[in-house]
Amino acid sequence: MRPWTDHLPAGLSPEDVHLGAAGSLVAAWEQRWAADPSKVVLVDTTGAPRRADELEAATANAAGRFAAAGVGHGDRVAISAATSYEFVVAYIGLLRLGATALPMNTAYREPEIAHIARDAAITAAVVDDAERAEWIRAAAPTAIVTSPSLDQLPPSADVALPAPTGDDAALLVYTSGTTGAPKGALLSHRNLLVSSEAVALAWRWTAEDRLVLTLPLFHLHGLGVGLHGTLTTGATALLYPGFDPNTVFSAVDTGATMFFGVPTMWHRLVAAPGATALRGLRLGVSGSAPLPADLHAAIAAIAGAAPIERYGLTETVMLTSNPYDGERRGGSVGFPFPLVEVRLAADGEIEAKAPNVFGGYWQRPDANAESFVDGWFRTGDLGAEDGDGYLHIVGRKKELIITGGFNVYPREVEEAIALHPAVAEAAVVGAPDAEWGERVCAFVVLGDDVSDAELDEWCAARLAPYKRPRRYERVAALPRNALGKIVRGELTKRLT
Ligand code: AMP
Repeated sequence: MRPWTDHLPAGLSPEDVHLGAAGSLVAAWEQRWAADPSKVVLVDTTGAPRRADELEAATANAAGRFAAAGVGHGDRVAISAATSYEFVVAYIGLLRLGATALPMNTAYREPEIAHIARDAAITAAVVDDAERAEWIRAAAPTAIVTSPSLDQLPPSADVALPAPTGDDAALLVYTSGTTGAPKGALLSHRNLLVSSEAVALAWRWTAEDRLVLTLPLFHLHGLGVGLHGTLTTGATALLYPGFDPNTVFSAVDTGATMFFGVPTMWHRLVAAPGATALRGLRLGVSGSAPLPADLHAAIAAIAGAAPIERYGLTETVMLTSNPYDGERRGGSVGFPFPLVEVRLAADGEIEAKAPNVFGGYWQRPDANAESFVDGWFRTGDLGAEDGDGYLHIVGRKKELIITGGFNVYPREVEEAIALHPAVAEAAVVGAPDAEWGERVCAFVVLGDDVSDAELDEWCAARLAPYKRPRRYERVAALPRNALGKIVRGELTKRLT
């Protein structure tokens, strides 16, 4: 693909692009807070405005409390909690201490939580639910477990806060692998800082912006793009515990300028009464899953401006985006962000090299060897470039199902179903769905008779709700190729 230098926003030249200069995320944010202490940087889920100086003091205190509890540099600390001001304070407190935060999807069930807590050998966990706290204690008996308000930690130790370097690990984010078990992507301060600055530059994000942040903070879309971008630019984020179209509309009516969502959210927004409120937005962004071209057009018609579709992965943060100034092309993910190099391998696989591409998976040399070729990260996505150089995602080498913006790897669901005594084998595919993008469907070969309700109950105990099949199809045998691999395309055809 053509280089990023060909796609800079109007008025900028490559020499103007100095990303990551502050070194670490927290150094960049501290500079912002010191420059404008009275700036409201967050609006709490309760509606309370939170100033920069308040956030600075609260996060220093949180860092001191984690330190007093024995958490230190490089320790992994899980956060399994709904979005709240306390979540953000605990998270930034960990970063200021040089610890590594491990955000966990709040929908995870016991086996998912236990795998991650053990794999990461967590030192501590911030949890807002008694049942999940129990699961974490069972998997990591030595871990310190506290609520998001940090009530269970001792008073702040008077520690001089270390200055994390760009190379320090800020985040360990578990992302499902084709092997079935999620693996941890280790992202450094530099990876995350560079990406948030590149995004800010490309989307002309300024301190005047007010972002409606309804995306969950356990995923990089909400955390690495939404929250980090806000703190890096000195803007304001309005925090919400979840998504609801009316919340978005009333936020825009009272001055919000930006909304970032997954296609499922956009689908609901344009269908809801009152959608013309979206005309008040300066910028709407879609990502995490393909935005159908007709939905892109529907958003443009109702909001008065086309949304920007962008593309990224947990392992790379943001890679490409439609242009802010030029044509925002439906069905395309645009051009590389500043400092990002993208190329297409012979089979069409998208490969990326950039300062925001992670260093590797946590303790997975096997996966790391497979994921990089000559310093280029292999995304597993298949792409094609159109005549104007726009990138289009045309498929997924890695059979990922994306439902409502959440990734589901068939193998993980298949393994859970196959454990049921009545099931001989199972294959899981995504069925196209206008609202969810895709829905999870399972083909099962049964040894004994079993009802859909029983299978669903079985999956409910083992998988987060979004991974559970919405449909079961009984088959005598699974279609397989000569090498014995399941022919998923064949199954998908049977669903339509
Ligand atoms: P995650 O690691 O959860 O961020 O998921 C990354 C995957 O989401 C990518 O490998 C893509 O398959 C998919 N993805 C992200 N953004 C887009 C997009 N705009 N269009 C199509 N697929 C996307």
